[in-house]
Amino acid sequence: MGMPFADLGAQQARIRDDLDARIRKVLEHGQYIMGPEVGELEKRLAAFTGARRCVACASGTNALELVLAAWGIGAGDAVFTTPFTFVATAETIARTGAVPIFLDIHPRTFNIGAERLEAAIQAVRQRDRSLHPLPDAAVRGQLAPRALVPVDIFGNAADYDVLLPVAERHNLLVLEDAAQSLGGEWRGRKLGHCGCHAAAVSFFPSKPLGCYGDGGAVLTDDDTLADIVDSLRYHGRVDARHKYENIRLGCNGRLDTIQAAVLLAKLEIFEEERDLRSAVARIYSALLADADGVVLPEETPGARSIWAQYTVLLPDGADRAAVMARMKEDGVPSAIFYPKGLHVQSCFSGLGYAPHDFPRTQEICRRVLSLPMHPYLSREDQEKVAESLKAALRAG
Ligand SMILES: *Cc1c(COP(=O)(O)O)cnc(C)c1O
Repeated sequence: MGMPFADLGAQQARIRDDLDARIRKVLEHGQYIMGPEVGELEKRLAAFTGARRCVACASGTNALELVLAAWGIGAGDAVFTTPFTFVATAETIARTGAVPIFLDIHPRTFNIGAERLEAAIQAVRQRDRSLHPLPDAAVRGQLAPRALVPVDIFGNAADYDVLLPVAERHNLLVLEDAAQSLGGEWRGRKLGHCGCHAAAVSFFPSKPLGCYGDGGAVLTDDDTLADIVDSLRYHGRVDARHKYENIRLGCNGRLDTIQAAVLLAKLEIFEEERDLRSAVARIYSALLADADGVVLPEETPGARSIWAQYTVLLPDGADRAAVMARMKEDGVPSAIFYPKGLHVQSCFSGLGYAPHDFPRTQEICRRVLSLPMHPYLSREDQEKVAESLKAALRAG
């Protein structure tokens, strides 16, 4: 077996006994849906992040959906977000009937270009494409700026110093897409609870805190929002004692009890794993400091990344496919997050964006390369990755 990109096996070997015990306990009590582990996990995650409320749900996508639905976001609304993210961020916005308005990204952190938010809001208000690139629907009719969905891409905080005051001035609801960033921090606050109205977290297996299937959670200080999300995830029931009294159209958005048990075991070592990830990132940055033309990842000022990915920019003009193929011959895996901006994905062709609307996103999609990243990556393997990347670049 070659070097893994993300080694879930090493982690499992460490916590296998605890996992077995916790899963056995679920098999014994038999409460597979909304069993006690779900509530315990919600308490633990609220305490971990400092959020007043945590509502576990079916996935990160589901968490985004539940919050947007609870806020009543829909047709006629404009929701600002980044084109450089996993598709779920904008997919969930568009599925409500609202129109995603993309902002080009920061060239070093790859996060939403916060300094463009004000102009994008004005452009929507005035239906004026000369102020900011807009989807057709934002020019044809009058949209109401309603919400902002920043993503902490690769585990590193979006630029909340700039985003939050602008959002507040314009009364935007802010939903942090913290699918990749749980465990990270911004100005001493945990990501998922860093000043936004709500956050969506994912427990997809490869995320920094992942379960063994799909899972997610909503974090918020807003009791009203948490109560609505709690109801929506369970078919809009009025409360836990009256599950056949349905007062709103919800969905099946519950987290399995067994997945909650898995997450409780992983939470025990999560802070230690965070420190191991930081160390791996520091070592990469030292090993690659002399790699000609390679741009190393940067944390947002005030942020501590959870390093969900360690993603470099290859030199402009490098043949990325050839570099990846050469590294693969050395037994070194690599990945492209993300090959395409959302504004050029066919599922969003109806928005009417042009590729050059977001030139930084276009360039970064061409140049990014993510290296193997997990808490148990050895120094020897990191040296092998760095040497392999440098040799592949020299080979041209
Ligand atoms: C993974 C991810 C999601 C979706 O999470 P799922 O649990 O896979 O539904 C949403 N946004 C971002 C940025 C992600 O990385």
